[in-house]
Amino acid sequence: MNNLDYMKKYDYEQIVYFYDKETDLRGITCIHDTTLGPALGGTRLWDYINEDEATIDVLRLARGMTYKAAAAGLNLGGGKTVILGKAKKVKCEAYWRAFGRYVQSLNGRYITAEDVNTSTDDMEYVAMETDYVTGLKKTSGDPSPLTAYGAYWGIKACAYSVFGVDSLKDRVVAVQGLGHVGYYLCQYLHDEGAGLIVTDIDQERIDRVVKEFNAIPVSSDEIYGVTCDIYAPCALGATVNDETLPKFKCKIIAGAANNVLKEDRHGDELEALGIVYAPDYVINAGGLINVYQELIGYNRDEALSKTKKIYDRILDVISISKKESIPTYKAADRMAENRIEKIKNIRSNYIKR
Ligand code: NAD
Repeated sequence: MNNLDYMKKYDYEQIVYFYDKETDLRGITCIHDTTLGPALGGTRLWDYINEDEATIDVLRLARGMTYKAAAAGLNLGGGKTVILGKAKKVKCEAYWRAFGRYVQSLNGRYITAEDVNTSTDDMEYVAMETDYVTGLKKTSGDPSPLTAYGAYWGIKACAYSVFGVDSLKDRVVAVQGLGHVGYYLCQYLHDEGAGLIVTDIDQERIDRVVKEFNAIPVSSDEIYGVTCDIYAPCALGATVNDETLPKFKCKIIAGAANNVLKEDRHGDELEALGIVYAPDYVINAGGLINVYQELIGYNRDEALSKTKKIYDRILDVISISKKESIPTYKAADRMAENRIEKIKNIRSNYIKR
C-alpha cells in the first residue's frame, strides 16, 4: 500500500519530510490526528535501513500516540518524528537547532519531546529554535518516575479486578527490566509489601534491587515461567508471544513496556487463558501526562494526581472488556476512539471564542 492510501485507511492528517543541507539532518514528522489538540510525540533518532523503514515506524508510532493521549484523557493529538542517522555520529548543536526550526514551521500542530536516542540536552538546543518542545530539564524533567507511578496504580487496578482487593501486600510481582522505570516500580511495590522476582541483562541493576528491595533474581529466560501473581514487563516489547504464552503462571500482565503483545492475537490468547492484560498505552501514560502538565503550567503534585487516575482508566478498560466481551487491548482502543469521536461531535455547533 502506498503512503497516501495508508493515510486514508487509518485517518492520518499529515506527513512532513525535512532535510537540512548544512547538517545533513534527514527526518520525517507524522501527524496522525489533532481532534483533541496538538499532536505530541517524541523524536526518535535511529539508523534506519532506508526511508521506507523510517516511514513505517513514524506512521505506527504517531497513531499510537493518538490512542495513548486520548485514553489518558489529555487534550492532545498523536504525532511523532523519526530522524535517520547514527546517534553517535550526527548529534551537535546545529543539528538539533535545524530540527527545532522544522518543528517551529509546523506552527504548533506538532509538539516534540525526547524518545529513543534523544535526550533532554538535545531538546535544550531544539528549544532555542521552537516554542513547541516539552520534556525540558527545567520543567518536567525525567518522565520515568511518573511512568512507574502510573504503572503501579494500573497494577493495583488489575489486582482489584482479579483479587477483589487492590492491596499488593504479599502479592508476588515478576519485574522484567530494572532500568529507569523498572527500578522505581520495584520501589513502589516493595513499599507496599509485595514480593519481587526480578531480571535484567545488566547485573549491576539486579544487584541494586536485590540489595535495596530484597528481590529474588532469576535469569532473563526464567522470568516468564516463575510462579507469581503479576508479570510486569518493563524492558522490551513483544514479550507476550507464541514462545512465552504457554509459560505464564501469573493472573495479570501489567507493566510499563511498549508494544507488549507481539501481535494482537496474543491479546486474544491472554483473554482465553483468563490472564488480565493492562493495555500498554493506558498503563504507561504517566510520562505523557507529565509532559502535558508542562504545557499547561507544570505542577508536580497535579502531574502525580492525574497519573494516579490510570487506576480508574484501567478499571474502565476492564469494564468495557467484560461488558462487550472483547479482550482488553480492543477495549482500550474503543475507549480512545469513543473519546475522540465524542469530542469531535460536540464541536459541530458554532460558538464564538
Ligand atoms: P531503560 O532502558 O532505562 O530500561 C530497560 C531495562 O531493560 C534496562 O535495564 C535493560 O538492561 C533491561 N533489558 C533489556 N533487555 C532485557 C532482557 N532481554 N531481559 C531483561 N532485561 C532487559 O528503559 P525505561 O525508560 O526504563 O523503559 C522501559 C520500558 O518502558 C520500555 O519498553 C519503554 O519503551 C517503556 N516506556 C518508558 C517510559 C519512560 O518514561 N521511560 C514511558 C513509556 C513507556
